[in-house]
Amino acid sequence: MNKLKEIKETLLMGPGPSCVPPQVYKALATATIGHLDPAFIGIMDDIKAMLQQIFQTENDVTIPMSGTGSAGMETCFVNLVESGDKLLVLINGVFGMRMQDVANRLGADVDTLEFEWGTAVDVDAVKMKLDGATYDIVAVVHAETSTGVCNPVDLIGSLVKDTDALFLVDTVTSLGGIPVKVDEWGIDAVYSGTQKCLSCPPGLSPLSFSKRAMNKLANRKTKVPNWYLDLSMIVNYWQGAKRTYHHTAPINMLYALYAALECMLEEGMESVFARHQAAHEQLKAGLAELGIPFLVKEDSRLPMLNAVKIPEGVDEADIRMTLLKERQIEIGAGLGPLAGKIWRIGLMGHTARAENVERLLTALRAQLGF
Ligand SMILES: *Cc1c(COP(=O)(O)O)cnc(C)c1O
Repeated sequence: MNKLKEIKETLLMGPGPSCVPPQVYKALATATIGHLDPAFIGIMDDIKAMLQQIFQTENDVTIPMSGTGSAGMETCFVNLVESGDKLLVLINGVFGMRMQDVANRLGADVDTLEFEWGTAVDVDAVKMKLDGATYDIVAVVHAETSTGVCNPVDLIGSLVKDTDALFLVDTVTSLGGIPVKVDEWGIDAVYSGTQKCLSCPPGLSPLSFSKRAMNKLANRKTKVPNWYLDLSMIVNYWQGAKRTYHHTAPINMLYALYAALECMLEEGMESVFARHQAAHEQLKAGLAELGIPFLVKEDSRLPMLNAVKIPEGVDEADIRMTLLKERQIEIGAGLGPLAGKIWRIGLMGHTARAENVERLLTALRAQLGF
């Protein structure tokens, strides 16, 4: 029995992956060609231009890395950090902690500021920290997927601008769901992932490096310790008249990203953001009727990742399993200290539509006996 035949289409309302639109599936099935074929180079160039629009940046080095969002995280740190560099990592969830782990493995001198999970990074605390010490890099997660919190990257960016530090930001869940303004916010290194609000299967990590970040890379005393993610080599494959082989690009994944970016730009970024917000409002109203509260205060909630508290006396794992098995709807569980306490309802990309929200609310009403 071919197991693929048993796979049922699922409404993906967890923390990623999100639903994939038909245009993107179709793009994946386009004929594979050589990765140095001029036709393919043309597609790569268009992907770069579309990513610049979506990241709102003029950075030349704006490319998708091969690998999922975590590969993008690793690329930023491995290229910019040298042993002994002083880093400040702002932590209020799983992905901030992952940044700290990645930086520590590179021998960085890592300082952290931690905030309660479910609350946003406090800008005044960051200001005090930056007034008291100098850092080579300040790193933060924009949309903390483990808690549903949106961190004030614009405000943190304006503080970092007054220092010599590079500003490194995770936009894996935010890109394509809420505005990400790389140039305006003074971001030097940023990465994302395809399977969240870009509505493409997992496998690529869009990334952008500012001139300052590329300068830091060019002036390293030591080689980038990771061959596969060394941007100084990878840019020769993505830029210039003559392209040099580094590794074989995941051709069909790049077709898919091309189609996903095209869909988003055709709809228009403002409409895309408004669609995410509308789906979030609709969910909020429906959950209020069910007496299900949000974990996060209203002013720092993400529209695309709704962390909600499990009602008293409800077996949260049982509800998730029933939703998946009987209704083909996936929602996410809590992580770390929030395990068993919250559900994470994703409204990312193509998933963020009224009919999908209604389908989940109908299912939850039935499950919870309303
Ligand atoms: C999903 C996610 C990642 C990791 O991405 P993968 O594609 O799972 O490797 C990193 N940061 C944030 C904020 C995420 O939501």
